[in-house]
Amino acid sequence: MSKPLQKKVANYTTAKEARLQGIYPYFRPIESAQSTEVIIEGKRVLMFGSNSYLGLTNHPYIKEAAQKAIEEYGTGCAGSRFLNGTLDIHIELERRIAAFTGKEDALIFSTGFQVNLGVMSSLTGRNDYLILDEYDHASIIDGTRLSFSRVIKYAHNDTQDLHKKLSVLPEEAIKVIVVDGIFSMEGDIARLAEIVSVADQFGASIVVDDAHSLGVIGHKGAGTASHFDLTDKVDLITGTFSKSLASLGGFVAADAETIEYLKHHARSLIFSASMTPSSAASVIAALDLIETEPHHMDNLWKNTDYAMHLLREEGLDIGPTESPIIPIFVRDNNKTFLVTSMLQQEGVFVNPVVSPAVPADSSLLRFSLMATHTFGQIEEAIEKISKVFKRVGIANIKEPIK
Ligand code: PMP
Repeated sequence: MSKPLQKKVANYTTAKEARLQGIYPYFRPIESAQSTEVIIEGKRVLMFGSNSYLGLTNHPYIKEAAQKAIEEYGTGCAGSRFLNGTLDIHIELERRIAAFTGKEDALIFSTGFQVNLGVMSSLTGRNDYLILDEYDHASIIDGTRLSFSRVIKYAHNDTQDLHKKLSVLPEEAIKVIVVDGIFSMEGDIARLAEIVSVADQFGASIVVDDAHSLGVIGHKGAGTASHFDLTDKVDLITGTFSKSLASLGGFVAADAETIEYLKHHARSLIFSASMTPSSAASVIAALDLIETEPHHMDNLWKNTDYAMHLLREEGLDIGPTESPIIPIFVRDNNKTFLVTSMLQQEGVFVNPVVSPAVPADSSLLRFSLMATHTFGQIEEAIEKISKVFKRVGIANIKEPIK
């Protein structure tokens, strides 16, 4: 007789069904470095599904820094930051991140997901409130589930709704608004100026998750608060090193007292091993490049503008994106898997995003740009996307702009 757990896992059939149809789109093994072209099943595929926005993950300067760190410090730290796992380069990286984001101090964690778990779970208590944009990242939501405080969501980027939700909360309670700087699937930017103005009215604090904004917007890529010139109005900035910063790990930047508090309360920091030496050294090297070589960010935006123009010209529905993250709406789960698989056959890698990550009628291909793409690669990918969409008869294709 099967146990209840065996029954539950056997009843999960979504992935099996997609596999049976030959269109299962996840865990595709890549046999090369994360660049604008990758090798999958021995074939060259254009990569338009990467978060390496600045295209630095295979940069010789960063790879050399990682190798040197392995030579000097070995491959792991064998402990948490709290006890035996703090290296001098962790502290150097914290100083660099604080300076880069324009905050007094910073604290690094082993992943961005852990940052949000640690920060969301420890800032507020039983009679306090965490107020989230409904499209906030999963790591923020999971962090709030570990918190004892109440969680309220407002409609995506709707600051009137935010105002309404805040206006009924008790004056004395701690209220913390948490938003993604650039939203990870939609590609639009948080309306930070309005959020700051609402927060000020109700004495609320603000956390911005800059996972997708660092290296992308703001002064030299310093992120969302810098983009709006509101660094002093944002209380905490969280982020990851796994995207533009070409490594693995994450951080929170804030005033020194908040960082001191988090050092002693964020359980995902205290009870988890620290960033590997090579990961930390890679981020320091990536920051060296980002701070001194503006062409990476310039190229990213040239490519983004060009891709948006071509996609709109093809009549594809890309929503109100404002960043290198471009959703191409399919609005049907199965068709999203199908076009992802057909595109891979055609030599283009894109990410499918289906329900429950987004509502089923908003399922989409997540198309993302890198600074290192060529215009030729962008043209080739968009031509193939357009061809595949027509072949599948995707209904929401708009009349091309001519
Ligand atoms: N926040 C956002 C908005 C993200 O998109 C991600 C990763 N996709 C994370 C946090 C987590 O970052 P990491 O990959 O470093 O765990």
